[in-house]
Amino acid sequence: MTSSNEASPTLGAALVRGLKLRCPKCGQGRLLAGYLQPVDDCETCGLPIGEIRADDGPPWLTLLVVGHLLAPFLALLFMSDALPLWLSTALMCVLAVGLCLALLPRSKGVFIAAIWKLGASHTSDDDTVPD
Ligand SMILES: [Zn+2]
Repeated sequence: MTSSNEASPTLGAALVRGLKLRCPKCGQGRLLAGYLQPVDDCETCGLPIGEIRADDGPPWLTLLVVGHLLAPFLALLFMSDALPLWLSTALMCVLAVGLCLALLPRSKGVFIAAIWKLGASHTSDDDTVPD
């Protein structure tokens, strides 16, 4: 019988592992060596995580989520006179930057997991378009 580390996870499980900044294959090894730098290989299962390029996906996802989270607060703050404009602006800037910094590595983990699970990580010159 194989252990859970050897079985291929579902797409959902791989995405959750990526969100937790863990290897999407085994769920044990670290995904990132620094803030956004992926490890070369998983320390547990050897998955070549460093070869998976997320490119502009993580910033796109981060801005999409942060924008939708902050939009209601933007409307409330700037349509009411509860706070001075300078304070509302400063508060929204701090919230936006903080959320982006917190979510960007997790977005990268989700994208790396999705790219790995969907097999979209490699391109080669001999790829052919199926008929
Ligand atoms: Zn692993």
